[in-house]
Order: sequence, then C-alpha cells, then structure tokens
Amino acid sequence: MTLSEAVPLRTLLIAMGGLAVALALIEGVVLTWLRRGYDWGESLASLAVAVGRRLFEAVPLAVAMPGGFWLYEHRLWTLPLDAWWTWLALFAGVEFCYYWYHRCAHRVRWFWASHAVHHSANAFNLSAAYRLSWTGRLTGTLVFFLPLAWLGFPPQAIAAAFVLNLLYQFWIHAGWIPRLGPLEGILNTPSAHRVHHAANLDYLDANYGGVLLVFDRLFGTWVPERDDLPCRYGLVEPLTSRNPFRIAFFQWVALLRDLRGARSPRAVAGYLFGPPGWAPDGPGTTTEALRACAARAAAPGPSGADAPAMPPAAAVAR
Ligand SMILES: [Zn+2]
Ligand SMILES: [Zn+2]
Repeated sequence: MTLSEAVPLRTLLIAMGGLAVALALIEGVVLTWLRRGYDWGESLASLAVAVGRRLFEAVPLAVAMPGGFWLYEHRLWTLPLDAWWTWLALFAGVEFCYYWYHRCAHRVRWFWASHAVHHSANAFNLSAAYRLSWTGRLTGTLVFFLPLAWLGFPPQAIAAAFVLNLLYQFWIHAGWIPRLGPLEGILNTPSAHRVHHAANLDYLDANYGGVLLVFDRLFGTWVPERDDLPCRYGLVEPLTSRNPFRIAFFQWVALLRDLRGARSPRAVAGYLFGPPGWAPDGPGTTTEALRACAARAAAPGPSGADAPAMPPAAAVAR
C-alpha cells in the first residue's frame, strides 16, 4: 500500500470520527431523556482529549513505529497484497500483537502512562472510546507490531489495521448493551469491555483483546461480568479533572515525580518498567499488592484483625 492509496482511508477515518461523536451525542441525549444518568462533563472532556490528540497524529509512522520500515525492507516474505488471506493474516496478527500491547499497557508503567488516559473517565459511555492518549505515538505503542513488518506486512497496512481495530472498539463502550450470550468470551463485547474499564479489584487487568477475546481465553486474562459485582468505572485512584491537558499528562507528571525521588538504578527501572503502583520499598499498590491486602483484611480471625489497612487512595499512583 502506498501513501496515496492510504489517503482514502484517512478521509474515511475522519468521517468515522465525526460519526462517532454524533453517535455519542445521541447516546447522551437519549440517556438524559430517559433519566438513566449521563455525565456530560466527562463526555465533553473526552471530546476535548480527542480534539487534542489530532495534533499528535502528524507524528510520522517512522517515529511511531521505529524500525518498522527497516524490518519491512528486510522482510522474511513478500506477501501478495491482492490476496484475501494476506488481509485475514494481518487481522489475526494485529489482534495477537494488540493483545500483548494492551496487556503491557496495563502492566508496564511506561506504557500505562499513555494508556491511562483511556481509562481515566469515571463514566462508561460511547464518548470514552475516543478518549485516547496523546503520547502513544511518541512512546513506542507500535513497537509491539514490529514482528508483523518483519513477516512481510507493510507498516502502513499495519497502522491502518491498528486504527480499524480501535474503530471496532467504539461500540463496545456502550454501558447499556447487555451481555451477548454465546458471543461472550469470543468477541470483545460491551460486557467484556465494561469489566476491562472497571477498577474493582476482581476486575482489574482483564479482557485485553481488541476485536476478539480468544487470546484472553488462551493466556488466562478473560474475566466475565458478574451480576453481583457492578462495575466501578475509572482509575483505582479516580481522576476528577476534566482539563484535557491534565488528563493527557497526569500519569507522566506522576512518573516524573517518582523518578526524581528514585535513589537507585533499580528504583528508576522499577518505576519505568514495573507495573503501575510498583514501589522500591514495600509492596506498593500494584494489583497483586492491593488484592493481597484485601484478602488479608477479609480473612476471619486474628490474621484478619491484624491485617494492614488498604493503602490510602492518595498513595495509589495508578
Ligand atoms: Zn486498557
Ligand atoms: Zn475502552
């Protein structure tokens, strides 16, 4: 695919973006009219973040996917771009790489600093779909897709497939679509994605797939939505700001603050590449630490009574 061939796709994407905003507005109007509750402030903040993100779309693909063109020049195979199975293989490959990108985006703080933007809304609605990071193109999101360039997929096609994958994910941000029966656990559905956006301890770090959930099933990260556990949306420590600049950069500011206080190379590496909530001394506030703390607090008898309290929200840097 040449750049000129990619232009119609870009035009299509702008149109799809406009349609997404229109649908999110209609959702807001209908939910408000039905008195189902709709947070217009969060929705407008998401729109502002989406507008700001456009400034970063000028970052060239060679920067967003460093080494991608070099790997493609030294590719293992030249795939026929007019064969349907090439595109099917690209879809499967992007889905696999997306799973690992998204899992690392939640488990490695460097990537979480960008991805947390998407999870910062405290309401779950269609507008959350376009609350996406400004810094992902500068911080290596697309390096997870480099093996595909080496296998013979053009970097432009990989980037386009990645964007189409995100486009699919628009509708799964509907809080009002019920569970979809046999599709659950196969396709990424609104129910599965509600769990992904939930900050409840039982729901953290689950359902990373883009279009499919098969890799979550395969690698043990699929968690179905439960009737007895309503989702609490947003971050573990909720972000209440609706300032798009703060939403885009609050995790980077927190990371820089921690790095400034680091006293050893191990602390620097831990803050950068450990899971969110990692601390150089003590258990920190990682998912595992929070769950262990909750389990001790819930345990009956003396061990439960002696259990340390959950870390204060202000200490939860995630
Ligand atoms: Zn996520
Ligand atoms: Zn989402």
